[in-house]
Amino acid sequence: MATVISHDFSPDAAGCPRAGKVRWSGVITAIQPRAWVWRYKTDNRTHTLTGFNLWIEGDAGKMVVAISALQQQKLGFRLGDTAAGTGWPVQGGKREIADLYRAGDLKVVAQPDQSADRGGPPFVDIIPDIEIYRQRGCRMLDTKLWRTACMPCMWANKSRVEIEYDFGKTKRYRSETFCYGPKSCAKYSIGEPREVPYKDSWPSQDDGCLDSCLTGHRGEDD
Ligand code: SF4
Repeated sequence: MATVISHDFSPDAAGCPRAGKVRWSGVITAIQPRAWVWRYKTDNRTHTLTGFNLWIEGDAGKMVVAISALQQQKLGFRLGDTAAGTGWPVQGGKREIADLYRAGDLKVVAQPDQSADRGGPPFVDIIPDIEIYRQRGCRMLDTKLWRTACMPCMWANKSRVEIEYDFGKTKRYRSETFCYGPKSCAKYSIGEPREVPYKDSWPSQDDGCLDSCLTGHRGEDD
């Protein structure tokens, strides 16, 4: 269920009125790290981890709620929990793939028996601390896999991406999918190389070269 419970009449950064605060509840069907990515040609791909995204299926349909790493640490949300809270509709969506952010009043309403380790892949164990994701780094993940087989996996990620198109002057935005999981995961596929456009230049191709930089410190099973 998602219900508008209050309004913030102050304008946002773009001068537009904010939408109302929403109360939501539902079953958690996926918990993935929340991040945004900065790209500059194939010289740089920086992942900034900001917390977690909860995929919620409630009476009012599906929604994605962004929470902080501290909120996840305190409440220990797991797949299959029924959760509830409040949030504000994301404005613009340059940094968030979520529908709601600034989450508050969070609680676990019901928690099924989760003593059995369900193995993987996809990996659905206890969600690690955000610092573990930072240390691991990630590889590009095929978008269709992210949407299907990898969706419940705690290592899967979809990020908003900011591309430095004309350095310091113009940026472009899109979404991309990544995997923080073990390199030996049998489900893994990198997908198509990704073009990184730059003004008046032939687009660079990220074909996994940056993945090696970001995860080169990890072994095959790590
Ligand atoms: S490819 Fe990555 S996201 Fe997908 S199941 Fe394997 S570890 Fe999880």
